[in-house]
Amino acid sequence: MAYDFDLFVIGAGSGGVRAARFAAGFGAKVAVAESRYLGGTCVNVGCVPKKLLVYGAHVADELEQAAGFGWTLEEGHFDWGTLIANKNREIERLNGIYRNLLVNSGVTLLQGHARLTGANEVDVDGQRYTAEHILIATGGWPQVPDIPGKELAITSNEAFYLKELPRRVLVVGGGYIAVEFAGIFQGLGAATTLLYRGDLFLRGFDGSVRTHLKEELEKRGLDLQFNADIQRIDKLDDGSLKATLKDGRELVADCVFYATGRRPMLDNLGLENTGVELDARGYIRVDDQYQTTAPSILAIGDVIGRVQLTPVALAEGMAVARRLFKPEQYRPVDYQNIPTAVFSQPPIGTVGLTEEQALEAGHKVQIFESRFRAMKLTLTDIQEKTLMKLVVDAETDKVLGCHMVGPDAGEIVQGLGIALKAGATKQQFDETIGVHPTAAEEFVTMRTVTR
Ligand code: FAD
Ligand code: NDP
Repeated sequence: MAYDFDLFVIGAGSGGVRAARFAAGFGAKVAVAESRYLGGTCVNVGCVPKKLLVYGAHVADELEQAAGFGWTLEEGHFDWGTLIANKNREIERLNGIYRNLLVNSGVTLLQGHARLTGANEVDVDGQRYTAEHILIATGGWPQVPDIPGKELAITSNEAFYLKELPRRVLVVGGGYIAVEFAGIFQGLGAATTLLYRGDLFLRGFDGSVRTHLKEELEKRGLDLQFNADIQRIDKLDDGSLKATLKDGRELVADCVFYATGRRPMLDNLGLENTGVELDARGYIRVDDQYQTTAPSILAIGDVIGRVQLTPVALAEGMAVARRLFKPEQYRPVDYQNIPTAVFSQPPIGTVGLTEEQALEAGHKVQIFESRFRAMKLTLTDIQEKTLMKLVVDAETDKVLGCHMVGPDAGEIVQGLGIALKAGATKQQFDETIGVHPTAAEEFVTMRTVTR
């Protein structure tokens, strides 16, 4: 049977665009349908605008440090409207770049909501298309617990378009987004409280990292409330919001921001017209080559709920394009040692096993840990400490994990990711010459076993 397309991609986000472009480059006839925004979550309401706001918040640190270096500054004034307008302009520029990338690689771009009507058929706003392969790359969507008053809360989607910086913010959650946005709001001047339901936020990260970040955020005046969860939200007469906690306490703020995880975006996708099944958590079930339970339909990215990071969606998109149209170049995605950063203030950079994971996996571990005040702060009154930590297998000397909390942690850990992928040993770390004077050199100069 002749199909309209070799590959029909649903969703022009990180994974979908990558798969579409490369498939077209390999000679396939490709279409992409996008209902909302080119570039998906990352470009529009994720990594990119988030990082721009983090930079904005970080300026406050630079201003605070300036006096130590002899600068006398007039009292500064921050304007949220300017930051958001500039951010929006940059996002529009990126939307245009994504459009050009697709069109210039010969992909047919369809603007509209795509709905599966069969194993090889998609409907985009009333128009039917057939394809030999269909790729679902529809991403995720914020998930807010069902509590009275949830409609009064916002999520990251809305935070990027707030008209004004709220004076008082309650951030709910203890994952990447909660910690990053707490830093953004607080850095830009809002009185910010982070409420997390458990004992300590950032579950799954290394224990030393979690404790260290907690201490640093508290030093900065962020109000961290653990074992705290909201039961209901009510609007008060003056327009502010009252959050009643499960323990009966009441907190008043101008904005309640929920970052309690993301669900797969499956709304009106028509999965019932196909044999595509979901896994126990509600994500699309795929095999190790991203094939769903319907053989002509594949899925990648946040919608399969493996690792919800843009570079992972990109790698999965690339793997699908190669597997379908350039099999001789196919290589499976390596989910080991994925480096990642939390752009908190200060940021976290991490790659490989945490101490807890290494112990649980049965490794006999040696821990090298260092805490120090960064050189840049020595001329200031700021007492922030940087944390660096190596988790080493005591028997093989292999470095199992590298963890950092401190300036540029994300930048530093990218290089360490290569070392771990190459299987570097602690001895090879020790034999690597440092770059002096940097903070990063600490990773090759830690000699004393802490534990
Ligand atoms: P998406 O990028 O979400 O793309 C899915 C696309 O499909 C969307 O454009 C959507 O409109 C479209 N779509 C959905 N349904 C349909 C339909 N039926 N028809 C047509 N189109 C449809 N990751 C990092 O690596 N680093 C970060 O710093 C980072 N920061 C983040 C900050 C925030 C606030 C958030 C929310 C996420 C962040 N992420 C970050 C995660 C990253 O954005 C995602 O992992 C990544 O975007 C997933 O890519 P994807 O292709 O699976 O989906
Ligand atoms: P996460 O899954 O990282 O964190 C969700 C947080 O919300 C957890 O602390 C969780 O607690 C808590 N939570 C979940 N359900 C509830 C509930 N019903 N009530 C109260 N608290 C709840 O999700 P995020 O929304 O922060 O981010 C989604 C994903 O996007 C991340 O996992 C990450 O993959 C990606 N991302 C990456 C970034 C980066 O690379 N820098 C930045 C932002 C997002 P508990 O731990 O107890 O379950």
